[in-house]
Amino acid sequence: MSQAFVEEVMQTVEARNPGEVEFHQAAREVAESVAPVIDSNPDLARMKIFERLVEPDRQIMFRVPWTDDAGEVRINRGFRVEFNKAIGPYKGGLRFHPSVYMGIIKFLGFEQVFKNALTTMPIGGAKGGSDFDPKGKSDAEVMRFCQSFMSELFRHIGPDTDVPAGDIGVGGREIGFLFGQYAKLTNTYTGVLTGKGLEWGGSLVRNEATGYGLTYFVSRILQDAGKGWEGADVVISGSGNVAIYACEKVQQLGGKVVAMSDSGGYVVDMEGIELDTVKRIKEVERGRIKQYADEHSSAEYHEGWQGIWTVPCRVALPSATQNEIDETAAKSLIANGCIAVGEGANMPSTPEAIKVFQEAGVGFGPAKAANAGGVATSALEMAQNSMRLSWTFEEVDERLHGIMDAIYEQCAGAAEAYATKGDLAAGANIAGFLKVAKAMMAQGLI
Ligand code: NDP
Repeated sequence: MSQAFVEEVMQTVEARNPGEVEFHQAAREVAESVAPVIDSNPDLARMKIFERLVEPDRQIMFRVPWTDDAGEVRINRGFRVEFNKAIGPYKGGLRFHPSVYMGIIKFLGFEQVFKNALTTMPIGGAKGGSDFDPKGKSDAEVMRFCQSFMSELFRHIGPDTDVPAGDIGVGGREIGFLFGQYAKLTNTYTGVLTGKGLEWGGSLVRNEATGYGLTYFVSRILQDAGKGWEGADVVISGSGNVAIYACEKVQQLGGKVVAMSDSGGYVVDMEGIELDTVKRIKEVERGRIKQYADEHSSAEYHEGWQGIWTVPCRVALPSATQNEIDETAAKSLIANGCIAVGEGANMPSTPEAIKVFQEAGVGFGPAKAANAGGVATSALEMAQNSMRLSWTFEEVDERLHGIMDAIYEQCAGAAEAYATKGDLAAGANIAGFLKVAKAMMAQGLI
């Protein structure tokens, strides 16, 4: 019965959303976890909760015209998918990357619904972005693009309606330009975006939150295996916001990060990555990870990002992008001593890779749970904005740590109650689903 439900639901999802393969992948993964729960609860089946969940509340697509520094007119496409607001206003990041299309935004928005439910905060799920590539653009070009993007997006969002944040290609600079344009167009000053600068409504720890939270979550997995970070070699893919602050927290807890990457290639430094160099290259100079090897004689640079999974490690933290660990990479990690994987990126492991990890008994922290620290801290930023006050770094970090522990416990509890003990991937899907489902049941057929 469960498998029949999955196939039936997926047939509709695939027919209604042709070509959106990442969305199909994300929907199938959740469907497989929650099907047995729906099977044993006729009300969930009768009210077609899952069938309603895979259909976004609304999806918006718009033209974003802007001029480059040479005066040439450029046209990009903007997206916002407001997926579900059963438990709070829509919340989810904006991604600026040339690979962005509706299928990517929908997979991210769908995942966000369950992730946000797990945070224990009152936030619904959404995602947005554009196929604009900020790489190689001047600050003035990025500003003109962001202003044009917000000139349409502003009519769909608001502090009690939909609160976007950053994601790939959208950091503090972009959030600043987007916020400025929103504030001008609406003549307001509200917490309509999170990830803001500290001087203008931002929260301490928001920048660090996803990476720190990921590390707190994986600490619980290691604890279950009777291990810790002390003396552990750690491989982290990417060298953006999530990767950098995961590296920082791992190092603070005694782990040794031996490799990091970007879309061009990866560096291995067996003496341990010098994070200040990575921060300067990536956050200040907006350069390439290759430069790290030019500055550190202990480091080697290798072309191509996939090779990073052949570097021996105890813990792997994929923190770059979707589907970056396939079956071959998963097998290579295990053969080289990996005992725990924490997903910093969204959906970085293919379904085949997850199967390999689970069959080998590798502790696996799924993205929805393990990287939820960023959006949870965004919700803390919203709370501070509403109260018009700011908490200290320690206060926010402590709340973040508590939230990550609570997420871990919800996942472990749901896995034990409804699936297989220790299957945190199924646990995350089920716990997130049940919370949203209860709210949807209470609010009627809307
Ligand atoms: P950034 O833009 O700061 O960094 C992204 C990093 O990943 C860069 O090193 C980039 O390399 C690399 N990368 C991006 N695309 C690819 C690709 N196709 N192949 C190989 N490498 C790639 O993004 P974030 O750190 O914010 O996001 C990373 C991941 O974490 C994403 O999956 C995002 O959805 C997820 N996430 C982010 C959160 C946040 O708070 N920022 C919250 C939760 C999840 P290059 O510079 O060469 O492109």
